[in-house]
Amino acid sequence: MILPHGGELINRVVPEREKLKIIEDVKKLPSLQVDTDSLLDIENIAVGTFSPLKGFMTKEELLSVAHNMTLPNGIVWTIPILLQLREEPKIGGRIAIKDGKGQVKAVMDVKEVYKIDLKKIAKLVWGTESDEHPGVRLFYSKGEWAVGGEVWLLEKTNFPFREWLLEPEETRKVFEYRGWKTVVGFQTRNAPHRAHEYLQRIGLEVADGLFINPVLGWRKSDDFDPQTVLVAYEHLINNYYPRHRVLLSGLATAMRYAGPREAVFHAIIRKNFGCTHFIVGRDHAGVGDFYDPYDAHRIFDRLPSSIDIEIIKVSAVFYCKECGCMASEKSCGHDESKRIYVSMTKIRNMLREGKTPPEEMIRKDIAELLMERVEVQNLTNIHS
Ligand SMILES: [Zn+2]
Repeated sequence: MILPHGGELINRVVPEREKLKIIEDVKKLPSLQVDTDSLLDIENIAVGTFSPLKGFMTKEELLSVAHNMTLPNGIVWTIPILLQLREEPKIGGRIAIKDGKGQVKAVMDVKEVYKIDLKKIAKLVWGTESDEHPGVRLFYSKGEWAVGGEVWLLEKTNFPFREWLLEPEETRKVFEYRGWKTVVGFQTRNAPHRAHEYLQRIGLEVADGLFINPVLGWRKSDDFDPQTVLVAYEHLINNYYPRHRVLLSGLATAMRYAGPREAVFHAIIRKNFGCTHFIVGRDHAGVGDFYDPYDAHRIFDRLPSSIDIEIIKVSAVFYCKECGCMASEKSCGHDESKRIYVSMTKIRNMLREGKTPPEEMIRKDIAELLMERVEVQNLTNIHS
């Protein structure tokens, strides 16, 4: 089994018996109320999804990640994991972390409270200072103060898709039980269309198993909601794929839309889940035209050290009318005029207008399933 990033799977979940002993004391600690994204980050740190991180980044760690794409110890890490606040918190030492309802969820040993140069970090990590970028906008909105230090998880936060989440320890057990020596990780934030399917089938050809791991945390509003994504994937797996060769599980973290750097972050996370391979398509985790579509491939060649997971780089996938099948720039010799590009935005707009998208873009049964969900969402929007 592939080793987790940094060599060991981090476990910072307070054992049940210990919890009972300390909970009354924890309630007396000074406390900090944090948002759901931060609670999910704590959980991902605690169960090892973000190994080797043990807590929220200090200033030294943040600057090292932003400038060098490594933690101060030289291990590759590309995305800041920060506990951000809009006002300077007057805290230090051990504190209790509470959710919006005032329930204690975690303990943090505060090492440092510091100010972030938001624009500088945005430029380094996202490649832009523009708040037109949804990831940058979210980063700015969370505030210029940060608290760094290690965390211990007491209780998981309320998350609507809890039953869809497997922890790295669990996925590793599943892979082992199923006898998968090689596993391809597939990142997505949307319902499956034909181009996704093409990539997943490549994965099924090269490895023993396919791990489909959709992001269920915060995404921009024009991506499909998590419930829809999961239902659509279940349908695809149960009706088309060899079920015993695929595992579906959600990833409860926010999308950052940081393009190339997020591609590396996504690969590291899948390595922690036990994947040996990771698929990076065209414009991975990109948004609008902020990134060159192939920077997400090239970044893996300029990392300061290897991350020890094999990256399967796939170029733009489309339906070619001349070939009569899905193909990529690497496998089709025809020109643009023969190509039908698959776009989720296009599919979604057609569904909203009550039109059926072409079968070359998305399977008819999945389109029908999405259509029902779009109708539900339209109704919800009218009533809200
Ligand atoms: Zn062709």
